[in-house]
Amino acid sequence: MIVNEQACSEAFITALESGDLEGIRRAPKAESHTHGPFGGDRAWLRDQTGRDIAPIAKPLGSMDEMHAWTASHVGDLFKGRVGRRLGWEGAFVRARLDGLTRVEFGDDVWMITQGVGDAAELFADIEAARVAICPEMEWTPQLGFSRHCKRSWLWHWLTPFLDAGGWKAVDLSGDEFAQPIDIFQPLYRACKERGMRLKAHVGEWGTSDDVWRAVEILELDEVQHGIAAADSPQVMRFLADHAVTLNVCPTSNLLLGRVARLEDHPIRRLYDAGVKVTINSDDALVFGVGVSEEFLALYQANVFTSTELDQIRRWSLEQKPAPALKGRSPV
Ligand SMILES: [Zn+2]
Repeated sequence: MIVNEQACSEAFITALESGDLEGIRRAPKAESHTHGPFGGDRAWLRDQTGRDIAPIAKPLGSMDEMHAWTASHVGDLFKGRVGRRLGWEGAFVRARLDGLTRVEFGDDVWMITQGVGDAAELFADIEAARVAICPEMEWTPQLGFSRHCKRSWLWHWLTPFLDAGGWKAVDLSGDEFAQPIDIFQPLYRACKERGMRLKAHVGEWGTSDDVWRAVEILELDEVQHGIAAADSPQVMRFLADHAVTLNVCPTSNLLLGRVARLEDHPIRRLYDAGVKVTINSDDALVFGVGVSEEFLALYQANVFTSTELDQIRRWSLEQKPAPALKGRSPV
C-alpha cells in the first residue's frame, strides 16, 4: 500500500469509529450498483424542481408496492431528454457528495424508444452531466436490459449501442422470475466479445441456485445483490473461487423486505466465505442513503469492523479481471 492510500485508510477507519459521516464521505470509493437518476440527490432535485422526493420510510411488501411508490413520488420527472438530463445531473451531485471517485451506471437499452435521443446522444448527455457536475470523477458507462423484455426486442435496441461504442458494462434488472436466465445468454456473449464487464441482478428475490446458474450461463464478472448465495456454502465457494464480486445494497434489502435486520445481513456470511463484496446504495433517492451512510450503518450495527469495511472500500476501487471460463461448477 502506498503512503497516500494508507493515509486514506487511516482517515476512513478513524471516521467510522467516531461516527464522522463527512470523514467517511471524503474517503475515495467507487459504486457499481446504482440506477442513474434514481440515485440522485434529494436536496439538489428539490432546489431544481421544487419537488421533495421523500424516501421510503418503512419496508415494502413487494416490487408492486415499489412501482407504486415510484409512480406517486417520482412520476414523470425523469422522462424525455430534458428530464433524463436532470436525472443524470442529480445522480452525479449525489455521487460527488458521497465521495465517489468512480461510479458505474447508465441506462436501459429500451430508453432509446422513449424520446431521450439515440444511443450516441444518450451517452453524450450522461458524459455532459459528469463534466458539468464532477469532471474529476470517473464514469463507467453501463447498459441495462429489463428481465421481462423479449430477446428480439433487446437485440433490436442493443445493436445501436454496440455500434456507437463506448459502453463498458452491462446489467440485467427487473423481475427476477420474468424469464429464464438462458434467454439472455446470446446478448451477454455479444457484450463479452466487445470487452464489456458482465453483471446481472440475481439472488435478491431468487435462490442461491439462481445465482450460480446466472453466473455460469451468462459468464458474469459481478452479481448485483446475490445475497441468496449466503444460503449455500457450495455457491459461496464457487463465487469465491471464480473471483465473482457481489455488489450488495444493505438498506435496499431492508426496505424491500429481503432482510429483517441489518445486524443479520448475509453480507457477513458472504465475506467470511471469501466472497468479494462491495457496498452500494442501489437507489439513493428511493432508499434515502448513499454509500457513506451504508458504511457507517454496517459499522454501527457491528456487522463489520472498521478495518474490514476499509478492505471492502478498497475492493470497490479495484477494476476486477474477468474470471476464468473453465471449471465453473459449484460442486
Ligand atoms: Zn439494483
